[in-house]
Amino acid sequence: MKQLVHFLFFASILFSCKSETEQIPLGQMTPQIKDTIVSKPKDTLNLNKDKVLGRINYRNDSTFSKVRREYSNKTIYLQKEVYGAFLNMVEAAEKDNVNLKIISGTRNFYEQKAIWERKWEKYKDLDSITRTLNILEYSSMPGSSRHHWGTEIDLNSLNNLYFNSGKGLKEYNWLQSHANTFGFYQVYTDKSRGRSGYQLEKWHWSYLPLASKYLAYYNANISYKDLTGFNGSEMASQLQIIEDYVNGISKKAINYN
Ligand SMILES: [Zn+2]
Repeated sequence: MKQLVHFLFFASILFSCKSETEQIPLGQMTPQIKDTIVSKPKDTLNLNKDKVLGRINYRNDSTFSKVRREYSNKTIYLQKEVYGAFLNMVEAAEKDNVNLKIISGTRNFYEQKAIWERKWEKYKDLDSITRTLNILEYSSMPGSSRHHWGTEIDLNSLNNLYFNSGKGLKEYNWLQSHANTFGFYQVYTDKSRGRSGYQLEKWHWSYLPLASKYLAYYNANISYKDLTGFNGSEMASQLQIIEDYVNGISKKAINYN
């Protein structure tokens, strides 16, 4: 009997939590409910190789949310915890007259493969190293993009120059001062201090409370054998994609735990 009472007690807690988060759209949630999402225990991530390689269908994944129209002109999905943190950040930014719009969020392996292979074809007359490096200026190899993880957002403009003056500079300064408080970090910082990989990206912000777990899992479990299934995949090990690109991030991001 005592066991049955315990069971009913826990079942009622479980049921009430579930219905609360399923029925209220994220954008309309009270701060308390948003906080529940943000503080979700990290050991519920259940990481596996498919997840870190982007072999996922995030549109049908209950741990992902669609971003509301007011925050993006496109259909964008993010992990719920990341979206909750973004909403808190947006709210704070608006108070300082800074508007944040998401240009890109989650992209899976198959979407990245389509982008990659289109460019692979475009540069077909170049030798294989130049061909690959040209694509890597602005695009990741499928299976190696942080955007696979649902933890990354590109904000406001995909042009660094935009952030150098006027409105863009104000937005960038605000993000530099406040984004870390909400868990977001610029990972593709200036390369002059020894970072390898992608060029400077002032628009790309990574939610490190989750992304750092993905990177740790990636480094412990993924090898070049796993980077297959697209044209030009044989170049991955030759160009040290895992060492120089996947791990070519800011010192703050490397040291985050
Ligand atoms: Zn990005």
